[in-house]
Amino acid sequence: MDEVFPVRVPVPDLRDVAAGNAGIPGVWHLDSGRPGPRVVIVSLMHGNEFQGASVLARWLRAGLRPARGALTLVFANLDAFSRFDPADPTLSRYVDEDLNRVWSPALLDGGRDSLEMRRARALRPVVEAAEVLLDLHSMLWPSDPVMIVGRDPAALALARAAGAPPPIVVDGMRPEGPRLIDHAPFAVPGTGRLALLVEAGQHWEPETEMVAEACASGLLRALGMLPPAAPVGSEARGEVWTEVWPEVWTVSGCVVAASRGFCFTRPFRGGAVIPRAGTLIARDGEAEIRTPHDDCMLVMPSPRVMRGHVAVRLARRAPPGRGVQVTPG
Ligand SMILES: [Zn+2]
Repeated sequence: MDEVFPVRVPVPDLRDVAAGNAGIPGVWHLDSGRPGPRVVIVSLMHGNEFQGASVLARWLRAGLRPARGALTLVFANLDAFSRFDPADPTLSRYVDEDLNRVWSPALLDGGRDSLEMRRARALRPVVEAAEVLLDLHSMLWPSDPVMIVGRDPAALALARAAGAPPPIVVDGMRPEGPRLIDHAPFAVPGTGRLALLVEAGQHWEPETEMVAEACASGLLRALGMLPPAAPVGSEARGEVWTEVWPEVWTVSGCVVAASRGFCFTRPFRGGAVIPRAGTLIARDGEAEIRTPHDDCMLVMPSPRVMRGHVAVRLARRAPPGRGVQVTPG
């Protein structure tokens, strides 16, 4: 790849958190001893997205304890992270395969073997015990932060209650393979199991870690696991987001590159909103890709997309002050 992706933040030293305290490497179980929700926060699902891990490691070193319930912190792909090289930072996303595309009973119970499949099987009881799960990610290409939830309205309500700044995108589509937030316990509305994923910003930018931390601490606060006034991390440094009512968008379509010639008409930033329906945004071989409706958000456009992979998700604004329209997806 021709692009240079500068690493503008320190690469964390995670050796002191790698063992964990729960019998599974990289898994930390913090139990308040009081009734309350079982929450799991996952970092390093992708080995080169380490800013969520920087937040969790800092919390562990500061002696964070939930005020109620139990909190489990996960450093998911330490093997891939250990290969991180700032000179070539995109290579360490995974070792054998993408750890965030294997989360279905069929794959986890099946016979496929890889470093990531073994890790997913080891983490499976941890994530399946979660009543609430937050998966911390960041993005390669320039993009505004975004919180992604599945189609359970309760997950959307929780994302709103967390009060973090990114817009919320309701997304039940998974053409690339099942993500952790799509895993069976979380994907079925009404089970009482909720999963959120935050894309906290661009990889290796300082703001990304602040957004990841705001989302994680906002979630714990919304669940009564952190006292409302307790400053955590960046908030202790005076950077507090309050009274945020994030916008809600619903994924309306998923553009998969059908040819090797897929090309956006210009370098769109993730989160850009195209006002007019029918605007040409990309060419895919002979085909023209146009926005299907007015006010179309481009969610995580990927300029260097391989054939068969998702080039961009499209999203439609949900009516303000009301729930989103939830349709089977
Ligand atoms: Zn990721």
